[in-house]
Amino acid sequence: MDVGLFLHNGSCNPAFLKLDLYCKGLRIDASCELGDDAREIIRNRAGLGSGLEVVIGRDMYTNVPVVEWWVRNSPYWLVKNGPHYEIWREKRAFRYEAYDDLPTVGRGPWVETLDRAQAERVDQVRIPPEPAWYKQRTSSGKLMQRIGCLQGTYLGVYWGPRCQNWGPNGENEYCKFCTEGQNLGSQEEAIKSVADVVETAIAARRESKITFVHVNTGFLDSNDYWGLFEPLYRELKAKTNLLLGLQAPPDADFENYRKFKALGVNNVSLCFEVMDEALFKEIGPGKARRGGLKRYLEAIDFCANEVGFDTVNGEIIAGLEPVESSIAAIDWIVDHGAIPTVCVFRPVLGAAYGKRKPPRVEDMLPVFQHFYRRCMEKGLPIGIAPNVKVSLIMLPEECRGLMPNPDAYPIRRAALWFAAKAFKAVFNARVRI
Ligand code: SF4
Repeated sequence: MDVGLFLHNGSCNPAFLKLDLYCKGLRIDASCELGDDAREIIRNRAGLGSGLEVVIGRDMYTNVPVVEWWVRNSPYWLVKNGPHYEIWREKRAFRYEAYDDLPTVGRGPWVETLDRAQAERVDQVRIPPEPAWYKQRTSSGKLMQRIGCLQGTYLGVYWGPRCQNWGPNGENEYCKFCTEGQNLGSQEEAIKSVADVVETAIAARRESKITFVHVNTGFLDSNDYWGLFEPLYRELKAKTNLLLGLQAPPDADFENYRKFKALGVNNVSLCFEVMDEALFKEIGPGKARRGGLKRYLEAIDFCANEVGFDTVNGEIIAGLEPVESSIAAIDWIVDHGAIPTVCVFRPVLGAAYGKRKPPRVEDMLPVFQHFYRRCMEKGLPIGIAPNVKVSLIMLPEECRGLMPNPDAYPIRRAALWFAAKAFKAVFNARVRI
């Protein structure tokens, strides 16, 4: 690897640490007081947010795996030193093969004691505290943290009924990396009203200064996502004027995307996960039957080139298919004018793939380097939205730290900086709270 955990001056490379923590997870030293200091670990949406929220470097939000069985092989530890949290790394060589010797059962975090004589301090980090609004109730009496939660600095909300790939007629058709069907109703409210979401968004804006509400859903048999979301977006936009994101399977009628845009939806995200068609069917049989890879790609193309939202994302999960296939997916998305969202496969508790091993960082690094290079070469609008720090993924602009030459593309980076300043001024003038 040409890039590693430490820079030439000996300081930590936060981008590499973020990526490596997705791949290996974090163990918790007995010195930590997370019950008092941290946000509660909320396993919601598709389950990717099942970890501990940590801020690396100046403002690199990340959601680090801490509860899965494979975390016990991690060399990384969270330690509390006086009032500060730090990440330490054991000096032993990391062995990927050691996963074979671990039991795949149990649920962390396991609180153990790090032998500091056998480890090195990596960097100081920040544990974002739980916002007070998490424990507030909406006027219907629901706990706001069961309506939506912070995933970095934006508000994530699941909207609509349980993804129909989970039943009642779609049993065994759910995506094999996903736990959404287990979380809805247990970790988050199964039934939310428009008012519940609007009140939660207002509270999150007031206290946590959110700028973006990202709403996702699973499959409906009808594929009528306009019908599902229209009342919610209408009210959210009218009451808050926050930036709004839509993440849903391809709509039955692509003309509805024009209506979403007219309603003020800023971003559309379509998650096809893998480019390999055979794996697409194997990993998500319901997704393949109800949508199909071709339909996802057509929807991305339509949204990016016919409708023209502020941004359109095609989402993939690196680690579920060969590296070359992930790279081909990134190329396809960029070549069609959309921005890739690249997740790192996380074998989460309860998922069909929950007992798989996490990916190797050595395999992930070239994927994320390619991702950054292509976004910059194509001149895509990355890092423009104000205060949108995403903890579940490497943001494209964060991948700059993974490059052998982070100073490349100076003119393009300057243009993005000015665009971000201008967009922020417009947003601040228009937001209603
Ligand atoms: S479409 Fe797949 S990933 Fe999305 S909620 Fe349904 S089962 Fe989960």
